Amino acid sequence: MMKITYLGHASFKVEADGKTIFLDPWLNGPTSPMKVDDVTAADIVLVTHDHGDHGYAEGVEICKKTGATFVAINELGLRAKSDGVENVHTLNIGGSVQIGDISITLVHAFHSCEAGSPTGFIVKLPGGTLYHPGDTGIFTDMALFGELYSIDVFFAPIGSYYTMDITQAAKAVELIMPKVTIPMHYGTFPVISANPEDFAKLVANMAPKVSVEILSPGNSKEINI
Ligand code: ZN
Repeated sequence: MMKITYLGHASFKVEADGKTIFLDPWLNGPTSPMKVDDVTAADIVLVTHDHGDHGYAEGVEICKKTGATFVAINELGLRAKSDGVENVHTLNIGGSVQIGDISITLVHAFHSCEAGSPTGFIVKLPGGTLYHPGDTGIFTDMALFGELYSIDVFFAPIGSYYTMDITQAAKAVELIMPKVTIPMHYGTFPVISANPEDFAKLVANMAPKVSVEILSPGNSKEINI
């Protein structure tokens, strides 16, 4: 069992087996229901790229206050080290690291950033496998990720402008074939005001076996695989 809490935008907290993972924790963002001060425990912090709305700064703060391990692409990991984070993994594309019973794989994304390259994460937990693609447009390698890792939960950026739109995102779901998809990266700003219900309709047509879970910031979903 794992519990996924949506923290708005592209930010998630995942709790499984007594471990807490933060993904792209933009807790200073306008839609986040929690702040860094509210974080009482964290084991792993994953940051896909260094754009401010993906929570690098908050991730560093969380690691410093909890002792959590920071995982990112090499150049961003090195930045976290020089910003004072003690436990850092500096992965690169295609590489994995095992932390306890959690396996984290860094994969490519098509986007931009300053430090290294933009990335996504495939996280294998005892309760299931997650794919957080970061900010990206669609690419056909997503089908390979589905084949190689049998993804249970895909966090789908749907807002357009900076990432995929609902059409590309629904096609990405069809390529990946997860059990569940959770839309993200929409509604935070006017330029990314997509309708998640429209995304759900497209998924129902293109990948009817996949269930779409629309979460509001602060809402949680328990996944039992
Ligand atoms: Zn970005």
